[in-house]
Amino acid sequence: MTIAIVSAMREELAAVLALMPDEHKQLAAGREFFVGHLHGRDVVAVLSRIGKVAAATTASVLIQQFGVKAIVFTGVAGGLAPGVHVGDVVVADEFLQHDLDASPIFPRYEVPLYGVSRFATDAALTAQLAAAAQRALPGVKVHRGLVVSGDRFVSTTGESRALQSALPDALAVEMEGAAIAQVCHDFGIPFAAVRTISDRADDAAHGDFLKFIEEVASRHSAAIVQALLAAPDDL
Ligand code: SAH
Repeated sequence: MTIAIVSAMREELAAVLALMPDEHKQLAAGREFFVGHLHGRDVVAVLSRIGKVAAATTASVLIQQFGVKAIVFTGVAGGLAPGVHVGDVVVADEFLQHDLDASPIFPRYEVPLYGVSRFATDAALTAQLAAAAQRALPGVKVHRGLVVSGDRFVSTTGESRALQSALPDALAVEMEGAAIAQVCHDFGIPFAAVRTISDRADDAAHGDFLKFIEEVASRHSAAIVQALLAAPDDL
């Protein structure tokens, strides 16, 4: 069974790619797909690029062209809920697009013609990912819950507060997860996502983000992915 490991940015995936020495590159949809092995498992690793459309394209190609049987996203996100701090880890139980609004025809956030605004991640894979994150990063707080996605780098305290009051159960904000969750729902493919908090999506977010992706993001991703793939459980 082939598992896809996806990140948006090179800084998030570099250390994972370094663990796949026998990888070979395949080009599709203008992206490089790194096909190889990790802990004896068949893996395709790829950079989705940033944003929901780029993520959806990547997920579709992984499923249709590479035949992956599960997708795991690893990267960074801005913390929203008060207890979610820089350096914490968030494992998504469900995703919502915070910038989707077809009201008044459809309720705000509802994906038109799906009748839902939230897509759940795969329960079993998510439990394995959360356990792997905790094993890989002992001492790091691992949260589980709602993650919201939109085509915006949220970097003002005003916007962060507006998101928190509109969606009080949202733990973190990023730019890809909800798109991949919807594609995986369409194809019936298990999806799980882990994000390390790089910033608080506030006025200091930009500086915090840049420092964090350089120093921590890639190491965290590699440690969590290794712990997940090394686990004896069937994935
Ligand atoms: N290239 C820009 C920003 C990249 S976008 C820069 O260097 O400043 C941020 C990436 O990290 C996205 O892939 C997104 O999923 C995630 N992310 C981290 N913090 C975020 C935030 N506060 N708001 C939205 N996305 C965030």
